[in-house]
Amino acid sequence: MRTYPIPMVPGPVSVPDEVLQAYQVNYGSSDMEPEFLDLYNRTEANLQKVYATKNRVVIQTGEGMMALWGALKSCLLPDDRVLCISTGMFGSGIADMALTIGTDVRKVDFQFNQTINDWKKVEEAIVEFKPRMVTAVHCETPSGTLNPIAELGQLKDKHNVPLLYVDAVSSAGGTPVLTDEWHIDLALGGAQKCISAPAGTSFLTVSPRAWEIIDKVDYAGYDALKPFITAQHDFYFPYTPYWHGIAALNTALERVLDEGLEAVHERHEAAAIYCRQRLETLGLMLYPEPGAVNSPTITAVNVPEKTTWEELDEKFRQRGLVVGGNYGSMAGKVFRIGHMGTQANIQLVTQALDVIEEVLKEIR
Ligand code: PLP
Repeated sequence: MRTYPIPMVPGPVSVPDEVLQAYQVNYGSSDMEPEFLDLYNRTEANLQKVYATKNRVVIQTGEGMMALWGALKSCLLPDDRVLCISTGMFGSGIADMALTIGTDVRKVDFQFNQTINDWKKVEEAIVEFKPRMVTAVHCETPSGTLNPIAELGQLKDKHNVPLLYVDAVSSAGGTPVLTDEWHIDLALGGAQKCISAPAGTSFLTVSPRAWEIIDKVDYAGYDALKPFITAQHDFYFPYTPYWHGIAALNTALERVLDEGLEAVHERHEAAAIYCRQRLETLGLMLYPEPGAVNSPTITAVNVPEKTTWEELDEKFRQRGLVVGGNYGSMAGKVFRIGHMGTQANIQLVTQALDVIEEVLKEIR
């Protein structure tokens, strides 16, 4: 397998040795050994710190989409009303997912290069549609943007919306996610972004209100949340838990907490600021429009004229740099520098920008 000395893909990010070592242990049966339950409980407590919540946290086997699907299916019945705020591919994708499970979906659309910027539009939709759930994405990874979830949480609270569902897959562990303060009922995440563990575990915080709804909805399926009401108490999980994955996740979380959440967030902010200053001096244009909030975890850049994404990708790789491409309407037009988790590192970002500078000189 070819590896790259300057990995800047916005997840999966490069995993530290200590985390890999935690994975490479011949663990016993996670169904039988109390040590596993202890690990699960400690991992939950560490996630509660990262998500600033007193709510319980469910840890599932499967990467981020597992949590995204499981939370929708476990909390919604056909015909329930779901208001999906879309400022990008994931926000829009969540609306499509909610449709496939038969719910009544209304979307509040913003352009993919914007963040939520019209609260009147959002509030009117909440008042008129009276949704059971509002969904939003904190960091839209393809767009490199960060939505103002605190304000959305205030509207949710003001209008007594039962559930606020927030995809924090690309933000938690890189920038504050204040689950309780922002009135989030379901805050979703995956291991392979800012936490810097291998892909394969996902997690979500669940508010007391959400647990009540989960119990009533009674959804059964591999991704169901209901079995987690009693899983820890009874030490009876719905499938053989992923000891290796949770051990790696917990080690990664401990690294984040040992550094200190505030310091980690500052490290992300500093990497992002440096990255954008250098891009500006190179004459490259950020994808988010002026006024939109750029995420501290990722920078989305327009592919400059006179070249193509394919050419850039090839020339970057020749020099040891790998960055993210894009999808859908942004495919070939926008590339992404993932300064998240282990990659939120000024030295690494400097090396990445040095390569980008060299390639641009060659092309121009
Ligand atoms: N949500 C966001 C914002 C993401 O960026 C991603 C993955 O890139 C996901 C959800 C899905 O996560 P996964 O690819 O781990 O299933």
